[in-house]
Amino acid sequence: MASLRTRFSPSPTGFLHLGGARTALFNWLFARHYNGTFILRIEDTDVERSQKIYEDDIIAGLTWLGLDWDEGPYRQTERLETYRFYTQELIARGAAYYCNCPKEELEQRRQAALARGEKPRYDGHCRDLGLKAGSDTAVRFRSPTDGITHWDDLTKGAIAFDNAELDDLVLVRADGVPTYNFAVVVDDLTMNITHVIRGDDHISNTPRQILIYQALGAPLPQFAHIPMILGPDRAKLSKRHGALSVLAYRDMGYLPDTMVNFLARLGWSHGDQEIFSREELIRSFSLDHVGKAPGIFDTEKLAWLNGHY
Ligand code: GLU
Ligand code: ZN
Repeated sequence: MASLRTRFSPSPTGFLHLGGARTALFNWLFARHYNGTFILRIEDTDVERSQKIYEDDIIAGLTWLGLDWDEGPYRQTERLETYRFYTQELIARGAAYYCNCPKEELEQRRQAALARGEKPRYDGHCRDLGLKAGSDTAVRFRSPTDGITHWDDLTKGAIAFDNAELDDLVLVRADGVPTYNFAVVVDDLTMNITHVIRGDDHISNTPRQILIYQALGAPLPQFAHIPMILGPDRAKLSKRHGALSVLAYRDMGYLPDTMVNFLARLGWSHGDQEIFSREELIRSFSLDHVGKAPGIFDTEKLAWLNGHY
């Protein structure tokens, strides 16, 4: 599989924490194992929350861990032309439309739906109005109202969503900035990504992304959603560990090889072996041995491992 391509695509809205570092590592190991290409892409379309210090931290963290990328860093804010092109393509295909519903009105309708005990969703108000582009128009996806969207996840197995559950999501906001689900499809498509490996918190986004690929008549990548990392109490990683930059572990005296070994084993197993060299990890890594259960963060294990490098 010489043309295998993976990507790590963090949003620079926080430090490179353990979960992100492990996602990067799995993408890197998978690419290295198959002699593929590993791409770094900064998903900075959330302009309010994105910050340079976070991008710097992500890059420094990956560099410290030795997770070198072959292409990038690409930045979504530098690719607005490409998103415009695909927006026009979707509109030309009748798969997207302009929407000028005022924010306040959408919010009112949302509240009304909630009050009726319904799941709030866009009501399709502008779907068939044939509106033209204007200064206050967003672009929405014309999501199919029936049928099933499904895929064979490389770690989770078969997953299916009822299209009726999905509403017409915004692809491009009125200010011209694309939303995550749209930008990620355009990027993965144009960067020829073959395998999308990411946290399983993104599973509910995947049917929306698949529908956009299909509307573009584009081939799908393979998807692998990896389980979360939980704290020793099996709850979401606490602030103490979950929000820390991996560089904090460097400052505590952990070695990059310790962290790589430790993170690799959070959700991936290979027999009883505990200690792996980087070369061994690359050689033995496969998505087949990524479990379905969350990885448990264990500080004692981390300290123990560090004593072996
Ligand atoms: N930017 C997304 C995040 O940081 C990643 C999305 C993806 O991998 O598709 O969660
Ligand atoms: Zn509308």
